[in-house]
Amino acid sequence: MRLTAIAAGLVCAAALCAQSAPGAASEQELAREVERLQELVATGAAPRLALDHLLKKRDDLKDEAILRETLYGKLEVEELTPEQADEMVAAAERRLARRREAVEQAKEKVEAGAASRVSLTPFLEDMDRMKRAFDAATTRAQLLKEISEIARREAEYEQREEDVPLVPYGPLPVAEKFSGDGVFLTSHWRDTVLAFEARFGRGIPVSAKGETAFHKALGYDHRGRIDVAVDPDSAEGQWLRKHLESLRVPYFLFRAPVRGKASAAHIHIGPPSGRIRRAD
Ligand SMILES: [Zn+2]
Repeated sequence: MRLTAIAAGLVCAAALCAQSAPGAASEQELAREVERLQELVATGAAPRLALDHLLKKRDDLKDEAILRETLYGKLEVEELTPEQADEMVAAAERRLARRREAVEQAKEKVEAGAASRVSLTPFLEDMDRMKRAFDAATTRAQLLKEISEIARREAEYEQREEDVPLVPYGPLPVAEKFSGDGVFLTSHWRDTVLAFEARFGRGIPVSAKGETAFHKALGYDHRGRIDVAVDPDSAEGQWLRKHLESLRVPYFLFRAPVRGKASAAHIHIGPPSGRIRRAD
């Protein structure tokens, strides 16, 4: 399983999916219904309001389909494109806005004495469910941003001219390299995962294992390399560096560009990513 530790919070996404309204009309059925109602409204045989209601329902189903693929689906977070991540958050936001509107309308009915207070409960529950989906989508998009930022920093580091000094990080360089014996084997990784867990009582926070859509897009081959989302100067980061050095495993460390900001600080384990050779 990839992204084991930092993605742990996303496990709930599947549970949210399981709660989605059973028996909801299928998209095709709704499309047919919309068509039928449009004709009726045009001839004045049905009220416009009924059509608006149905159109909203159709839009909501479309958004649900987007979330099914991007949030609840089997896609690993690094397989999402930034566009898909934006779509995912926007769809979750629209669904939440619709639920908020429904709560407001239900409240108006209660205040007008046309419905009992208890009739609000399902609307409130539905809104809460959408709020959780929206939070999960936002977290997922944030994680993706972090992964893409990590990939961008690595590409930038490898593209730089050797003699161009890196922006310093306080007294320390912003990136450092340990060449070791130049080899990173599966057995090294297994050993590191177990030792990290034994030492810190939690899984090692992997942000990208092997190839990611971002490394590929940037023209880098990240196969056989692993990025660990730890600040290299934290207790965990220092331990990991010593451990890798004892195994003579090569690594690069990246400190945050701004001191105190955690953004994209990480340790890349393995040799540098080679440039993907293009047939040109
Ligand atoms: Zn890396």
